[in-house]
Order: sequence, then structure tokens, then C-alpha cells
Amino acid sequence: MYINGEWLTGRPEFPVTNPATGEIIGQVPDCTDQDIEAALSAADFAFRDWRKTTAYERSQLLYRAWELMLRQKRQLAELMTREQGKPLKASLNEVQYGADFLLWFAEEAKRMYGQAIPSARENQRFLVQKAPVGVVGAITPWNYPISMITRKLAPALAAGCTVILKPAESTPLCAKAMMEIFAEAGFPPGVINLLTVQNPARVGEAFCTDPRIRKLTFTGSTPVGKELNALAAANIKRVSMELGGHAPAIVFPDADPVHAAKGLSLVKFLNTGQACISPNRIFVHEDHLEPFIRELTNRASRLVAGNGMSEGTGVGPLINELAIQKVDSQVKDAVSRGAKIETGGERLMERGLSDGYFYAPTVLSGITPAMKIYREETFGPVAPVITYRSEDDVIAMANDTDYGLAAYIYSNNLATAMRAFEALDFGIIGINDINPTSAAAPFGGMKNSGLGREGAQEGIEEYLETKLGGFAI
Ligand code: NAD
Repeated sequence: MYINGEWLTGRPEFPVTNPATGEIIGQVPDCTDQDIEAALSAADFAFRDWRKTTAYERSQLLYRAWELMLRQKRQLAELMTREQGKPLKASLNEVQYGADFLLWFAEEAKRMYGQAIPSARENQRFLVQKAPVGVVGAITPWNYPISMITRKLAPALAAGCTVILKPAESTPLCAKAMMEIFAEAGFPPGVINLLTVQNPARVGEAFCTDPRIRKLTFTGSTPVGKELNALAAANIKRVSMELGGHAPAIVFPDADPVHAAKGLSLVKFLNTGQACISPNRIFVHEDHLEPFIRELTNRASRLVAGNGMSEGTGVGPLINELAIQKVDSQVKDAVSRGAKIETGGERLMERGLSDGYFYAPTVLSGITPAMKIYREETFGPVAPVITYRSEDDVIAMANDTDYGLAAYIYSNNLATAMRAFEALDFGIIGINDINPTSAAAPFGGMKNSGLGREGAQEGIEEYLETKLGGFAI
């Protein structure tokens, strides 16, 4: 734990496990109520001076953190693979993506523009300035254990806020490594604080109720997000919510089904399907079903599951036993209601995988709305394929969900793609594009997928108040 510029030890600790091997790879302190209070008071105190720094000073520190992060890219990626499980190449990509936010917001810090607004009164002037919201409580998930931290902390710090970070209990070591980078970059004591905790509810409650916290930024599941949002609302706190997803992917009749299967297998099995923008319902036009399933099945069955540190591993483990059970119960439910397993469909226990949480890359066909997987986020390596006939039907089916984060379209016809882009109720739409994300592009969802956007110009607005000055002259 890191509070007010100091590393704290001497508390009870909890273990951190490698999900590929079951080995304990570290221990971190489990924060006490006094630690929560110390972090709140440090961040509150530090805000008094930090808010007065110039954007140029804050930018310089973010820029330094960006350089340090890139210098340690390999070590950070190896730690991430051991702690979270994704293949090393994917970890390297995530560290780069995470660093991109530091650079982007080092630059955006200098563009917190206000406005001079003409008044109807001859002797009046209006001036609008942007001001930091105050102390921010940040809660991050384990599936992207570094980039979800920088996507929140970079804009908050750029805006002039101080932060208390509470990372997921499965991946506190990546958070600790990021804190070391921020400390080395020279952020003053109290500006960034880290609380590690095994049972997160106490910290969540403090973030939502303590008057010193002015903003809660949360990335995680929709049920937890709803609970925290309700508590924060009762105390009129600003919130950003990046929640779950249930992304549809539509392969239109004018698309190349083999090309679409290639792209969708890459994005579906990325991070073992543990991504909020992972395709969770793949709608394929009936004319393309056979070649699409053949290609997707071929690719899924060739993926090698294993330890992300080993050369040739295409897909890593799930995060824990509960995740295995959730995925398996969705597959069993679908099969019991008539779905067909094209490949996979079981936990992997051979080739030394039994100590970790491995599930075979799976393709299911014949999926119908009666199945759990049609409605629930899977967060695992299962590609459910649904057949459709008409464009109107498929758009209605794709939108028939409480979620609204990401969607994907495959089409070689501009008019089809544009119609679908406009008709889909999702915050992020990949059009023949399986990676519609970047520090420069707004990331976020509609409906139960959340509130607010991260990254892009909009990302910093989430941490700013608008202040109006009316001057009578
Ligand atoms: P989770 O909701 O269980 O946990 C997320 C974070 O919330 C963790 O830090 C956890 O410790 C904390 N948490 C849990 N209960 C809490 C409580 N009562 N009070 C305070 N904090 C609490 O989700 P998860 O399983 O870690 O992450 C997966 C979920 O995150 C998926 O639903 C996924 O779609 C979503 N996600 C969304 C985005 C996005 O940008 N929209 C990005 C990544 C992940």
C-alpha cells in the first residue's frame, strides 16, 4: 500500500496467485479502516497544493511516468502475465496501450480550455473556467490490470485531481508496479495513493459516502457498478462507470465469411474472452453459416492453451475457479437447450494444465434466445453463433440486450455498414475492425454498460467542473 508518499507494511496480508499454475506469487497488505482514513486525509490535503500546479507541471510528470513505463515495458508485461495469465505478447500490447494514456493526457492537460461568453448586458462579461473536481476514488478490474489504471489516473492527474486507487484483489501487484513508476516520476506525496484490500466493499463504501471524495470512477461488473452508483447518487458524487458488455457481431451477406471468422476469432479469444468488448453473440447470415463455422472452428481448435510465458501459447487461463464454473454452466445450459459444440466445451486438465484455470476455446452453433449465453456476459473463450435471415431482424436481435458497450459489423457494402452503424445502440462499433480502441478515441457504453467515456478529449472532462464567472464592470 502506498499512502502519502510512503509504502506501508506490517498489516495482515493476502496472497496473489498465478492463474496458470496456482502458485502464490506474492502477498500484499489488506488495508485497515485506519489506512482508508489515512488515504482519504492524504489525498484531501495534497489536493490543496496539487490543484494550484500548472497544467505544464502536471504534464511534465505524466510525460516522465510514460517514459519510465516504456523503459520497463518488458518487466511490467512479464508481471502481468504471471499475475493475470494473458500471453506475454498480449501483455506487451497492454503495457503499450496503458502507456498511451499517460502520453495522451500529458498533452490534453494543456488543453483544458474555458470560454468567454458574450452577455446581453453591456456591463457584464461571462468567463468559464475548468476546475478539477477534487479527490477521486478509482476502482479497477483484473482483466486489464495496467491499462485500466492509467485510463483513469492519467486524466484525473492531468485535470489536477488527487487519487486513491483500489485495484482488483486478483491483480494488486501490477497496481503496485504502477505506483512505483508514479512515485519515481516525482508525483508529490498524497497525490496518488494505493489501497490494497481483499474485501473491497469497505473501500467502495468510503469512496461513495466520505465527503472528501468528489468523484468515483469504476470499471467492473454491472451489478457492482449499480450498487456503487446508487450509494454515490445518495451523496451527489460525480461518477464514471465502465461496466459489463454483451457485444453482438454481425456478419452481413455482403461480407467475406472467412475474413470475418478470422477477425472474430482473434477478438473473441483475446484475453481468453475476458474483455468487456468481447463478442458474445455472433450473428451470421444463413448463406454464410457453413464457411464461417468451418473457419472459426478451425482457428479455435488450433489455439494452444497454456502458460502465457511459454512460446506458442495462444490463449491463457481464466482468472479463477468461479470463472471456469460460470463459463461451463453457460455452455452446459446452451447444449441442454439444443446448441451444438463445434469444438471445445470443456475444462482442460491435461498437459500440466490441471493446476490452472484453463477452458478449451469453444465454438457453439444453433444458439437461441432461450439460452443463458444469449443474455449473460460470458467472460470466457466461448463463441456462440446465431443464424439470421434479414437485416431488420438482426439489428433488432443485436439491440435486444440491456448492455450497450461494443458491437462489430462485417460488411463490404458502405450503405449496409452505415445503416448498421447508425441503428446499433452501442458506444463503440467496429466496422470490419476488431480493435476500435485507442487513447485518442472515446471508450464507453450506453444502457447498463455505463456512464461517461474514458480516453479521448472527453476523458479529461470526467474530472473537471465547469465554473462560471459573471463580471459586472
Ligand atoms: P467486479 O465488479 O467483480 O470487480 C471490479 C472491481 O470492483 C474490483 O476492483 C473489485 O475489487 C471491486 N469491487 C467488487 N465489489 C465491490 C464493492 N462492493 N465495493 C467496491 N468495490 C468492489 O468485476 P471483475 O470481475 O473484476 O471485472 C470484470 C467486469 O468488468 C466485467 O463485467 C467486464 O465487462 C467489466 N469491464 C468493463 C470495462 C469497461 O471499460 N466497460 C473494462 C474492463 C472490464
